[in-house]
Amino acid sequence: MNPMGEGTRAVRAGLPEPEQYGPTLPGPVFAAHFHLSGEPVGPYTYGREANPTWTHLERAIGELEAPGEPVGTTVFASGMAAVSAVLLSQVRAGDVVVMPGDGYQALPLVREQLEAYGVEVRTAPTAGEAQSELLDGAKLLWIETPSNPGLDVCDVRRLVEAAHARDVLVAVDNTLATPLGQRPLGLGADFSVASDTKGLTGHGDILLGHVTCRDPELTAGVRRWRKVVGAIPGPMEAWIAHRSLATLQLRIDRQCATALTLAGTLAERTDVTGLRYPGLPGDPSYPVAVRQMRRFGSVVSFVLADKETAERFLAALRLVDDATSFGGLRSTAERRARWGGDAVPEGFVRFSVGAEDPEDLLADVERALDESVR
Ligand SMILES: *Cc1c(COP(=O)(O)O)cnc(C)c1O
Repeated sequence: MNPMGEGTRAVRAGLPEPEQYGPTLPGPVFAAHFHLSGEPVGPYTYGREANPTWTHLERAIGELEAPGEPVGTTVFASGMAAVSAVLLSQVRAGDVVVMPGDGYQALPLVREQLEAYGVEVRTAPTAGEAQSELLDGAKLLWIETPSNPGLDVCDVRRLVEAAHARDVLVAVDNTLATPLGQRPLGLGADFSVASDTKGLTGHGDILLGHVTCRDPELTAGVRRWRKVVGAIPGPMEAWIAHRSLATLQLRIDRQCATALTLAGTLAERTDVTGLRYPGLPGDPSYPVAVRQMRRFGSVVSFVLADKETAERFLAALRLVDDATSFGGLRSTAERRARWGGDAVPEGFVRFSVGAEDPEDLLADVERALDESVR
């Protein structure tokens, strides 16, 4: 029905109908309350419930998550607000949740919180659909693929099939891939969740998160949670995010292409081990990734000899900022073990490829490696 390309969709996503003398993308609406007489019914009543700037952004993200389908998107103040909204709105004391043991570094904190509320949490690695062994009696399966920072991939369709056969809901943390890399709802998941702080907004200047569901009842639960906890995005952040979506395909295509080139270059070097990129033929993630992903992300990870070598490498880079987070237009890299929490070697580098000219970036990386490896 809808033959529109992804770039076209991204530049037009969520725009209101053209209005004479109106702007293409209306500016942020700053309002704690809205004029409201009589019965207090929406769309806009009080600023914690809904805001027109969120509405435009939520429509835009929904169009990218599930083109042409009626879905419900809820935006949050951060990725963690979105993650917690799904888990804490859906589960009750006595329920069982299955999580990855190698997911985002704040997941163990969520796990502790769930356990404090009387929820049983089971974990297994992302690779090889190991989580499917733990589903009996569960309420919700949480998947993160590709996993951050290990870049393992699991087969979402197969996990969804196993989960739904046991009446288990499935949520996918799609942060690393973005909707242009993979569409969890299309693969059968019930919730697509992401930190839009990363690739979706891509400029490293805001924190934001979202949840998209097909089932209106699930959306209602997530929205109710946002109202209860109040983890709402500011209108300015929501507007900046919407503005950033217009360049999503341009950014992601460039970043993914350069990431693949960088991975190919690093694969040739003997001073680099443990290289991972899901889009690199030969990577353990590749066979599953090609079945469910259309783009493989901007993150490449690898291991240098030790902590000191990795620190020297990061310091020698001129075009790459030593900083956490990923998915931004400006390349960043960090020695992940400095945080503790991730099961990675001391020399493990998570490299987020930006939108620099690929020749410049590759030259910078090769020079920094030559200078730092002893
Ligand atoms: C960053 C990240 C989050 C948390 O998002 P914030 O916007 O930092 O709250 C969740 N999941 C993954 C995979 C992430 O990379």
